[in-house]
Amino acid sequence: MKYILVLDQGTTSTRAIIFDECARIVGIAQQEFRQIYPQAGYVEHDPIDILSSARSVISEALTRGKVKYSQLMAMGITNQRETIVMWDKTTGEPVYNAIVWQCRRTTNYCEELIKNGYTDLIYKKTGLKIDPYFSATKIKWILDNVDKAKKLLKEGNLCIGTVDTYLMWELSGHKIYKTDYTNASRTMLFNIHDLKWDEELCNLFKVDLNILPEVLSSGANYGYTSSDVLGCEIPICGVAGDQQCSLFGQLCINNGDLKVTYGTGCFLLMNTADKAIESKNGLLTTLACSITDKPNYALEGSVFVGGAIIQWLRDELQLIKKASDTEKIANSVPDTNNAVIVPAFVGLGAPYWDSKATGLICGLTRGVNKKHIVRACLESICYQVYDVVDSMKKDTNIDLNDIKVDGGASSNNFIMQFQSDILNSTIIRPSNIEVTALGACFLAGLTAKVWNNIDEVSQLNGVDKKFYNQFDEEKRNLLLTNWHNAVNKTLTK
Ligand code: ADP
Repeated sequence: MKYILVLDQGTTSTRAIIFDECARIVGIAQQEFRQIYPQAGYVEHDPIDILSSARSVISEALTRGKVKYSQLMAMGITNQRETIVMWDKTTGEPVYNAIVWQCRRTTNYCEELIKNGYTDLIYKKTGLKIDPYFSATKIKWILDNVDKAKKLLKEGNLCIGTVDTYLMWELSGHKIYKTDYTNASRTMLFNIHDLKWDEELCNLFKVDLNILPEVLSSGANYGYTSSDVLGCEIPICGVAGDQQCSLFGQLCINNGDLKVTYGTGCFLLMNTADKAIESKNGLLTTLACSITDKPNYALEGSVFVGGAIIQWLRDELQLIKKASDTEKIANSVPDTNNAVIVPAFVGLGAPYWDSKATGLICGLTRGVNKKHIVRACLESICYQVYDVVDSMKKDTNIDLNDIKVDGGASSNNFIMQFQSDILNSTIIRPSNIEVTALGACFLAGLTAKVWNNIDEVSQLNGVDKKFYNQFDEEKRNLLLTNWHNAVNKTLTK
């Protein structure tokens, strides 16, 4: 039996998963690590914590799966995106903690960049909106504030990388200094059209272009892990950021294929094949996984409060005991009795982009009860996803049909059915919803020739359930009008 090792390095935990040749999970281990909040709005990780969690989950997953290092054909890595690590090339020692994607410390600097007219230039080159979320301003912050980083940069001894790069560097015994297109495309330093680190942007953020890692396709031979570090030389053959990996794991490999991940927030990625589509509706243009030298593009949009509204129902309103209770409650009433909830808890993202909007419940009458409120919360997830999908349709002129879903809240049948109804699309939920790790497994397995082509891979994850539209046009339009009226009440501009 041949096996593939996947390292899934997330924001709050690191997991190692061992897949067999049929892409079945045979061993899995997970470890949470420290979240560091030095002050309000700042989020950091200790890179050493990340590395040691990676090493320990790998050995634990192998033990649990009764798999020997020598049976591993390939390794894939998928990781939290945008988080940045900077370290000393000679010693490997980090110069500062990793600055995490959630960290807002560069908000003022981003506002300055916007004021100084950089929005279009940055969007044209990188497909991104100027925001502290992306790596470039975090890198500049470290260069401006950490003396050691300044000194190493001058000496040409500074390494800068997203988490994939840092892990590969360490696991290879300081031999691999590379990243993949998907991770590079989230740094705000990478030109997604030329597929190169961009000189003008590197100058803007004071980064020496020559010290940045080499960029490869997601499915490529990156090099080998070191036997001194991991006990075996395993070829690293698949690397991609988490959202792009789940797009690949869902086998959304053709133009117009869309996946929605229903986690704390909802993440939507649509494959646009060889076209980098400029969005007129506030979506990001980004690089998707590719197993050839040719780039593959995607449109990305996200909903800030997805499954989080269920946590709010449970923890703040205390209307439910556990998330899964909501399905039965929502199905026990025929509708919300006209109540609509807009969960703009942290402003609204695409297509509204109103950071000052706050949430509301409207349409309240005497008959609205707890069940209606629960149902309205679930429906609000679907309406927000509808708005992003609608933006994607407008940007691409593609009439979407089937939509692949994953993430914790995709197990809720009410949400999936209502999503299908409101979008007038078929929703497909795969049997294995661990699609992020599966994407890294497919990338690595295809590159290492565990599988010969994508057709072989497409047999490996079946369908759990399909949801078909049950609404007529009139009902759908009425509900959408109520939703959009409610959203308009929350907007501040
Ligand atoms: P993340 O990766 O963002 O932590 P997960 O994919 O693990 O998220 O999904 C967790 C989210 O899904 C939580 O916000 C939780 O409230 C929601 N969730 C989990 N199970 C259900 C369910 N059966 N119905 C509705 N929401 C659910």
